[in-house]
Amino acid sequence: MSESVSMDLIARDQRAVWHPYASAVETPALFPVRSAAGVRLALTDGRTLIDGMASWWCAIHGYNHPVLNQAVTAQLEDMSHVMFGGLTHQPAIELAELLCALTPESLERVFFSDSGSVAVEVALKMAIQYWQGRGQPRKQKMLALRNGYHGDTLGAMSVCDPVTGMHQLFSDALTTQFFAEAPQTPFGAVCPEHDLASVRTILEQSGDSIAAVIVEPVLQGAGGMRFYSADYLTKLKALCDTHGVLLVFDEIATGFGRTGKLFALEHANVTPDILCLGKALTGGYMTLAATLCTAEIAAGVCASEAGAFMHGPTFMANPLACATALASVRLLLSTSWKRNVTRLETQLRQGLEPARQLAQVADVRCLGATGVIELHNAVDMQQVQPMFVERGVWVRPFGKLVYVMPPYIMSDADTSTLTAAMVDVVRQL
Ligand SMILES: *Cc1c(COP(=O)(O)O)cnc(C)c1O
Repeated sequence: MSESVSMDLIARDQRAVWHPYASAVETPALFPVRSAAGVRLALTDGRTLIDGMASWWCAIHGYNHPVLNQAVTAQLEDMSHVMFGGLTHQPAIELAELLCALTPESLERVFFSDSGSVAVEVALKMAIQYWQGRGQPRKQKMLALRNGYHGDTLGAMSVCDPVTGMHQLFSDALTTQFFAEAPQTPFGAVCPEHDLASVRTILEQSGDSIAAVIVEPVLQGAGGMRFYSADYLTKLKALCDTHGVLLVFDEIATGFGRTGKLFALEHANVTPDILCLGKALTGGYMTLAATLCTAEIAAGVCASEAGAFMHGPTFMANPLACATALASVRLLLSTSWKRNVTRLETQLRQGLEPARQLAQVADVRCLGATGVIELHNAVDMQQVQPMFVERGVWVRPFGKLVYVMPPYIMSDADTSTLTAAMVDVVRQL
């Protein structure tokens, strides 16, 4: 592999391919990857990069893991896919049982889908059908938080932060939902009642038309990388109960250990009515998501006019993905993941701390295996992306946020290379 192979791939990509959140006219800087192993991406031009992004929260065990490779190959011998209408299979059953066993006891039923956004769509539709089944068909709106992120399909977008989610571009196409102020109480602090004032006001005034409140527990991800009080969730759950509104936790980013607990809801010991999982579910190998709910929600949905839940993706419970997810979750449980996440938190805190002194930096914060440098101004991606690559690391900032959520297996030496590169790049800006 060489420089010329890279140049050729980039030129062909730029003629035919469209990348996420990218222009197809002024094409972005691109780095073709030839392979990935452990925490390293090998570029076709011969360079290797330490991956700080875990491919957007997913690759928690690193790349090309022998256990996950083996799970894929073994499943391939049996079947890669069969439809899920009227058929079932062991990988889906075992995975559903495992997810129910790992999450709070009252979450008893699993609906599989193919991506996080769809898992959120499923959660919203479940909430609406539930209230139909319980004789309250007017409850169809959602209440979400400012700075939230729940995915890119239209339903999921409707509950994303209206500003960062660019709702004005799609105003006539998007369902209007209710938005409360984002939690202000920091992680680890007791949440004063006034932090929920706007949630409370909306529920008091419009609870009759609201099916569910949807939040990312403890860590608001792509809507601002904000960490907040777990106690907020306890108080939110009480408000939901008072006003007869369901609670949906979107743990697509936080699930499977990222915040230091297997699921972020464990920081608060709050059980939602509906829980969305995705991203790290398959260890970053394949796309798979799951929406879990309580027996009460399942019963309510099935008591609605349809008598069934009205959703069914073509690739629902794909056996390859389910088998890989089973292997990934079991692998996680068999390793000292908690110690690794705590170790990474300490390393990220120490490594990123020097950035706090820089004039361009507004805040430095870490929680679990997530480290964030927030700047005063948005970065120019075209300028900074090559700066990281030159330093041998893969970091993909957005807006004012330069952040990492590495694979849990990253060594201390690689983590310190990663954080040093982040501080150095930020210093140059
Ligand atoms: C990434 C993400 C989603 C969307 O998942 P996709 O697989 O990209 O559709 C939804 N919610 C949260 C919290 C996420 O981080």
